[in-house]
Amino acid sequence: MSCKICGNETRKMEVTKDCIIYHYCDQCEFISKDSNYYVTEEQELLIYNRHNNSIHDETYVAYFRNFINKTILKYKSEGTKGLDFGSGPEPVLSELLKRDYGYEMDIYDKFYAPEKTFEGNCYDLVTSTEVIEHLDDPIEYFRLFVRLLEKDGILAVMTQFHPKDDVKFAGWHYRRDPSHISFYTPETIRWIADLVGLEVVFIDRHKNITLKHKKTEEGKMKLIESYTHKDVADQKLTNIHKRTTARGIILNGDEILMIYTKRYNDYSFPGGGVDPEEAIEEGLLRELSEETGAQNVRIIGAFGRVEELRPIHFPEYDAMYQISYFYTCSADQKLGKANPEAYELQNGSEPVWVKLVDAIEHNKKVIEQNDESIGLSIQRETIVLERILENMKNVSA
Ligand SMILES: [Zn+2]
Repeated sequence: MSCKICGNETRKMEVTKDCIIYHYCDQCEFISKDSNYYVTEEQELLIYNRHNNSIHDETYVAYFRNFINKTILKYKSEGTKGLDFGSGPEPVLSELLKRDYGYEMDIYDKFYAPEKTFEGNCYDLVTSTEVIEHLDDPIEYFRLFVRLLEKDGILAVMTQFHPKDDVKFAGWHYRRDPSHISFYTPETIRWIADLVGLEVVFIDRHKNITLKHKKTEEGKMKLIESYTHKDVADQKLTNIHKRTTARGIILNGDEILMIYTKRYNDYSFPGGGVDPEEAIEEGLLRELSEETGAQNVRIIGAFGRVEELRPIHFPEYDAMYQISYFYTCSADQKLGKANPEAYELQNGSEPVWVKLVDAIEHNKKVIEQNDESIGLSIQRETIVLERILENMKNVSA
């Protein structure tokens, strides 16, 4: 099974004591319980109902003060809008943040406060304590947290880190709670942060985590190439339209998943424009599924960015400044049903698995011929294809 966080192949770990199977990732250190051993939602709820905590319980309040001191007070912004995600049967943390720290809090809990009050909102503080160990797909929730965070907002998370030792793990009390299915270390949290565009501001060795948005997306990703299209190179440009796109590099052996477009007779990477309200990675996943129907797509990491100044077909602009972010991804080889846009159908675009070297050779030939029908993106795509091949050679050398 591949790791739900980093996509690396996991190893099976059986705890003989209770015959439960886990999947251990040696790369990002994430451990997930095999889904055959999950408890049902009813059983999960019974476990939660056993907790009886209140704001009048001083031990419990002290436990949260410790968390607030470590993860929030030092890093907080001016704003006071907060959300406690997974607030539990008694929303003690949010009560405390309201009463003693001046926050206005929304709460959400799958069982006890199921109304999604957070939808359409952004917060200066999102807290999630003892929640992420219950999540089957942590990345999906971290992406949600990213969307919910104001630009300078903080995400404060608590989960106990696993001991990184098979024997100790077997005897660990946190593992034995049957509703706990996902286990992390600080290394796992760093991987997650990287994947969703967050940075770790604070983390200790036990359980406390503070995350913020990465400073800027731009420039974080390595520049592969920056160029100006010949048709605008010597033009006077005043009104430039800026566009951000995200593209996926999905390899399978020596083949790569590309879009072949009949109109331009070229291979291009699947992906496309990122909507303004969308995170880049989110736009990428949406575009990949629409254009190729690819299944089980996971973003593995950043590959690099290409910046180009090129002609534009909107008359109100002189040129377009486009930044394309390329991400390495994994996906099943068998493609599902794509959902292409009208212009893509018109241009005769279709997803294909093609040998990397063949795609490069084909595109280079088309560039050389320089027919009328040549597309605007072929230069960019060929540069990146060649960079991928170069990297592969370096790895195997
Ligand atoms: Zn992993």
